[in-house]
Amino acid sequence: MQMSGNKRQAAGVPYSLPLAARHSNMKIGVLALQGAFREHIEMLRGLGVEAVEVRLPEQLRDLDGLIIPGGESTTIGKVAAQYNLIEPLREFAAQGKPMWGTCAGMIVLAKEVGMAGHATMRQPLVGVMDVRVKRNAFGRQVDSFETDLDIPEIQNGDKTPFHAIFIRAPLFETVNDTVRVLAKLDDGTIVAARENNLLATSFHPELTHDPRFHQYFLNMVKNGRRAT
Ligand code: GLN
Repeated sequence: MQMSGNKRQAAGVPYSLPLAARHSNMKIGVLALQGAFREHIEMLRGLGVEAVEVRLPEQLRDLDGLIIPGGESTTIGKVAAQYNLIEPLREFAAQGKPMWGTCAGMIVLAKEVGMAGHATMRQPLVGVMDVRVKRNAFGRQVDSFETDLDIPEIQNGDKTPFHAIFIRAPLFETVNDTVRVLAKLDDGTIVAARENNLLATSFHPELTHDPRFHQYFLNMVKNGRRAT
């Protein structure tokens, strides 16, 4: 933990220190069945937040928020079903607790999933966010790419764009009118969105050294707690 904090500072990111104090009383879980869960945990700990790996339904009980990481959505969904996590995860969302899915996690949160050549995928989903997403949406040539995005809601007037890393990423095909679009590519493709307590990004903020998206999620948690 100490090491990751130092790494971040060495990388010249100025955000970690003032934030650490603000979020010290939260407990955030990261679903740790498969994929990039360690990177999320490191980022959260770098922000001074208690962050734990979640594999069992009872571990959801005392959490203030949960992240479903990137990886392989079919694997995450299948293992979640085997561990009897699907219903408890739905309940967690229904309680209004913030959940954030990155990449494969975004797919797992979606109510409907498609993929080129398949109208609708049959795979286990938590299925709580009113969106249809398309898996592996950018085709083979651009399997993975990086780009700078302007995301006003996380930038708070700061002009520095967010460097977004896409790895065999999904996109949002349709979003219902309860869903707020947070970020688009230049061609209009939606790549980040929020529906009340649910947040989803096609890309991987945990693979950067920029904690502004995690900070945004922690603010959702903080504001949600104030409301209840
Ligand atoms: N392509 C993966 C899927 O469909 C997601 C990739 C990722 O999470 N980086 O599940």
